[in-house]
Amino acid sequence: MKGEGNVTRWPKPRVLLLLLAPCLLAGDAPPVDRFDTVVIDAGHGGADVGARGAEGSLEKHRVFALAEELSRRLEARGLRVVKTRGSDEFVSLERRNAIANDARGDIFLSIHANASEDGEIHGSETYFLALKASDESAAQVASRENAAFAAEGRPELSVLEDPFVALMGDLVATEDLRASSEFAGLVQAELSGLEGLRSRGVKQALFVVLNGVQMPAALVEVGFITNPRDAQTLSSRVGREQIVKALERAVLAFGQRYDARRGGIPADAGR
Ligand SMILES: [Zn+2]
Repeated sequence: MKGEGNVTRWPKPRVLLLLLAPCLLAGDAPPVDRFDTVVIDAGHGGADVGARGAEGSLEKHRVFALAEELSRRLEARGLRVVKTRGSDEFVSLERRNAIANDARGDIFLSIHANASEDGEIHGSETYFLALKASDESAAQVASRENAAFAAEGRPELSVLEDPFVALMGDLVATEDLRASSEFAGLVQAELSGLEGLRSRGVKQALFVVLNGVQMPAALVEVGFITNPRDAQTLSSRVGREQIVKALERAVLAFGQRYDARRGGIPADAGR
């Protein structure tokens, strides 16, 4: 029906000009949402030690070292870095989410090290959020990484029924999930290029720490702390440096794509 009453009434051009005048007079360009804030989440901390390596090494220490070095490198690139933990302290998964959301981060990277009873298993894998794990081993990894949630007095098995986790539905509806998938792909592509570190691919599972953040988010398992070779990589300065540089490249590549999408800046600018 072509009824007059259905026509949207836009302000007349003269009114529109008056409304825009303050901006035009001040010469303000519309604000461009640039990629500038990175949230780095070092897994575990304090009483939550994470996985244990064969030689007694602890995941919380290994991933903290990586997170600190990555943060320094990104800050040196002019990015604002917000860390969810700044020392060997316990930080709840919900608190990590709150820190990230309060900071209005453009990207969230959670750094972890993997573990297996089979010391032969090694390599890196990167996750983004899904309600259903992509395979059984992915489900096991998420279960272990969600253990801190249980330590906060929430039985792990109730994770799926928790209203906090029910927010998942909202996230799926946003573009964050597509961007999370893209970011996880960039992280894993960079890690897969490292010598001696096998790529186990991009996977999906329900990680509580990824679920509550309102920005693209990925969780990387940089290697198996239970495998002698990966453990050696994680404990050596050279090994850590190559991992950190790979993570840095992934964040910067994502940032360039982010800016290209929002501001018309070529994705390869500055390369
Ligand atoms: Zn972990």
